[in-house]
Amino acid sequence: MPVYPRCGVRPVRGEGVYLFGEHGEKYLDFASGIAVNCLGHGHPKLVEAIAKQAATLMHVSNLYGSPQGEQFAQRLVDNSFADTVFFTNSGAEAVECAIKTARRHHFANGNPQRHTLITFNNAFHGRTIGTISATNQPKMRDGFEPLLPGFRYAPFNDLAAALALVDDTTAGFLVETIQGEGGVTAGTDEFLQGLRKACDEHGLLLILDEVQCGYGRTGKMWAYEHAGITPDIMSVAKGIGGGFPLGACLATEEAANGMIAGTHGSTYGGNPLAMAAGEAVLDVITKDGFLDHVASMGERLRSALEQLIPNHDTVFDSVRGRGLMTGIKLKDDAVAREFVAHARDNHGLLTVAAGENVVRILPPLVIEESHVAEFVERLSDAARTYVPVIAE
Ligand SMILES: *Cc1c(COP(=O)(O)O)cnc(C)c1O
Repeated sequence: MPVYPRCGVRPVRGEGVYLFGEHGEKYLDFASGIAVNCLGHGHPKLVEAIAKQAATLMHVSNLYGSPQGEQFAQRLVDNSFADTVFFTNSGAEAVECAIKTARRHHFANGNPQRHTLITFNNAFHGRTIGTISATNQPKMRDGFEPLLPGFRYAPFNDLAAALALVDDTTAGFLVETIQGEGGVTAGTDEFLQGLRKACDEHGLLLILDEVQCGYGRTGKMWAYEHAGITPDIMSVAKGIGGGFPLGACLATEEAANGMIAGTHGSTYGGNPLAMAAGEAVLDVITKDGFLDHVASMGERLRSALEQLIPNHDTVFDSVRGRGLMTGIKLKDDAVAREFVAHARDNHGLLTVAAGENVVRILPPLVIEESHVAEFVERLSDAARTYVPVIAE
């Protein structure tokens, strides 16, 4: 189905931070398959783990015991707030599991009427019927009605507005710790801490969607660590498989108390091949100094961008985000989608457009200083040669 407005870049090979097209064109990949290829392209550890596991055992049903799944789940538990994990094949499925877990929690506790999740303007949680019901963005919802009942929407980062929606049907809050698709907007500490506090006071569940912002992207394992809080349930995907389709729903034992045998499932979810990919990525991410490297590359990128902006102040407005989840907001006369296309087609630079006229910069987490320097140079060239297309 022609649902993707695909561009002319047609990659056939990747190597580290670079992509190569059909005719040998070379691109600096600061999009990473939208925050997925956290180890870059062709990372030897990930390639080897997948090849080895594919030859050993690729898939068995979840009817059987899973030594691979137990081991990887335990490592996620050891490296997060969570006590328990459900593996999925995508981000949307991880959010679906989070929604089901929250509803089942209140059902199991004798409060089935507490089924409504409060979500936020500009949110992106995936493209299933459930996850498009969890956003109020018309471009994702139009024509797919009737959508799932049980969602209400408040402005992002507006704690008072969110709390005003709480009533006796509320199950909890579903929120991206840092909005990605919506424009690389970080939840403020005050906002996230306020939601946590309301959950503690009213027996509600805090569900964080860290599909994009989690897994080391901000220089910490999880974005919630910056706010000094923990969620009850969290959806994870994108970077977790480094390019292998993998996601996970993490939860505390208490929040997941309704998810008993038979309540949920997935044919592929957590199969041995996926687990091997996940473990290989986690091995790298949890190496001593890796997250510090991400944080320091993020700071270097940010300060370089901040220096660049005054030189191109008709195009660039400001820098936002955390770590290597960075965005540049453009001036009103410039158009993020157009600028991304110009940088791509004329300067070999891959970035991603986001909401609020923001250019998203999501490099592999393994970039080095030389890549940051190359990026900034190409971005500067792109800004110098960019001419906004005047609407015909
Ligand atoms: C990408 C994304 C999703 C959806 O993930 P899919 O793997 O495309 O289903 C959900 N939530 C957030 C925050 C995302 O960035």
